[in-house]
Amino acid sequence: MCIFCKIINGEIPSKKVYEDDDVLAILDISQATEGHTLVMPKKHYANLIEIPEGEYTKVMLKVKEIANKINTKLKPAGINILNNCGEVAGQTVMHYHVHIIPRYESNDINIGFTDHSSTTDLDKVLNKIK
Ligand code: 5GP
Ligand code: ZN
Repeated sequence: MCIFCKIINGEIPSKKVYEDDDVLAILDISQATEGHTLVMPKKHYANLIEIPEGEYTKVMLKVKEIANKINTKLKPAGINILNNCGEVAGQTVMHYHVHIIPRYESNDINIGFTDHSSTTDLDKVLNKIK
């Protein structure tokens, strides 16, 4: 069974930031930065694509609420909200979850984007998506 399901069932201990009937938020064991929190549905869905809208909405409303609380209590300079969907995107636990990562310095974690604007045809991309 998945590690987050085990945490939700109480088989593995965790530091609970928030809990209700549908949603659990825990401190990420890695603490990429102080206060790094994971918010997840109690029901198992593999990822962003699989989770139904209703469950997704419940999780994301709590992400906002908990981010606000972290912002008030820990006073970071900024916050990243992150979801890794799929192994290639860095997902290691296949139970949908959202990272709340308080940021204290611009280089405390590394999320890099390469600028391909000079070689990309935006209309071509748009036509593929629409
Ligand atoms: P992902 O890479 O799937 O987006 O994120 C998985 C996260 O789960 C990682 O940041 C990792 O540190 C965290 N994690 C993995 N196992 C445990 C655990 O047993 N307890 C807690 N609290 N976090 C975990
Ligand atoms: Zn699970």
